[in-house]
Amino acid sequence: MPTQNIRVRIAPSPSGNLHVGTARTALFNWLYAKKYNGKFILRIEDTDAERSEEKYVQNIFDSLKAIGLNWDEGPDVGGEYAPYKQSERQEFYDKYSAKLLESGHAYYCWCTQEELEAEKELAKQEKRDFIYSGKCKNLSADQIEKYKTEGRKPVVRFSIPPKKLKFNDLIKGEIEFDTALTGDIVIMKSNGTPTYNFAVVIDDLEMKISHIIRGEDHISNTPKQILIYEALGVEVPQFAHLGMILAPDRSKLSKRHGATAVSEFINQGYLPEAFVNFLAFLGWSSPDGEEIKSPEEIANLFSLDRVSSNPAIFEFDKLNWMNGVYIRNLPIRDLAQRCGKYLGKYDLSCYSESQLDLIIDSVRKNLVKLDEISDLVSYFFGEDVNIDNELKQNVLISDESKKVLADFLEFAENFDYNNIEKIHEQFDKFRERMKPLKPKQIMPPIRAALTGLNHGADLAVIISVLGKDRVTKRIKANL
Ligand code: GLU
Repeated sequence: MPTQNIRVRIAPSPSGNLHVGTARTALFNWLYAKKYNGKFILRIEDTDAERSEEKYVQNIFDSLKAIGLNWDEGPDVGGEYAPYKQSERQEFYDKYSAKLLESGHAYYCWCTQEELEAEKELAKQEKRDFIYSGKCKNLSADQIEKYKTEGRKPVVRFSIPPKKLKFNDLIKGEIEFDTALTGDIVIMKSNGTPTYNFAVVIDDLEMKISHIIRGEDHISNTPKQILIYEALGVEVPQFAHLGMILAPDRSKLSKRHGATAVSEFINQGYLPEAFVNFLAFLGWSSPDGEEIKSPEEIANLFSLDRVSSNPAIFEFDKLNWMNGVYIRNLPIRDLAQRCGKYLGKYDLSCYSESQLDLIIDSVRKNLVKLDEISDLVSYFFGEDVNIDNELKQNVLISDESKKVLADFLEFAENFDYNNIEKIHEQFDKFRERMKPLKPKQIMPPIRAALTGLNHGADLAVIISVLGKDRVTKRIKANL
């Protein structure tokens, strides 16, 4: 159990809507902070001005909040180590870059794009990996003067000391890199802005981040970052790299598998609480083997020991199942309210709140995502229903069906339309009366005539909600 002050962060780049992978990383950081009474920090990595957009910053805020991952410090709420947007932190990068230049851990590199391309080309011809030659490391004053007068703008390069670098990843275990294969890296671009590997170190250092929990796509960056910490003579934080999230076909999760942004999932009607529950089990497992849990319950049980270093598979079927569980457990008024935004095409004012609750409750067993609600309740709206030919052929046109409908119409005269229990009882009587016909000969034509479907809500609920006039009309239309 960590004893220091736990400070963890999520550092998304606002170049797109919040991706499920980033959301899972955010969640694991949040859980870690919750478990060990730490702080969870949101930092926006927007140094790449061309790819960053304010609308994505907003989407990141909204998506994290939607799934309940509130942050203790961040661009909107501030904090001791503000600002929390990289674009506003230039002074820190300048300061530390100057420090590294002064201590000799970094140097100006004046190489042009063409010169670097030529080095790369040579490496290719010689069939070796390109490693920057370091030729600007020991330039004479004259040479530097010459570059300046040519109008060249230098980058700042960090000298990577060649060595075997080991670190203990809290999820992956001991990892060793040969830094000789890296070559000196650019830390400040020629326009004066920092590169990712530099900015991330400076921010994590300044913000006193204790643990860096992130996706394993960043493992290869880690040695570079550790070397920068070492050059600055400061303590290196702990690293924990999460296995990737893969699609069920084991390829990288992408648009062709479905939604990839948290906001897309939420818009489709995955309940935020179901979605966050699902995310927690992408790579973590509960010691009690149970999977339906609130974030607080998960936080209590959470530890990095139970995080798998293998890839996690994003099982859409499992997400659907979990969403169904949450949908079935929601208080009905809450569910009805959440369904409201998917029912825009209907005039809801024709029903009272309790009737709407009844309607939604009657179909919720079949509801997987909230955006399916509109189709599931369609027959409760409007005067008539469409019945497709196949269903007509199968259950409505036989003489036997016509007889059932005619008898039902007569029987339904005396239904107690406001009392579902009574309708159930009256239905039982109707079935008695129709013997020797079996329920499967009696119910399908009635259901088809009333709903245009062969399955759906409890018929007594449908009859009660539709009321006598519409029941009569829909049955008569099929006599
Ligand atoms: N901006 C980086 C990303 O979104 C952050 C990486 C890190 O956590 O160090 O992948």
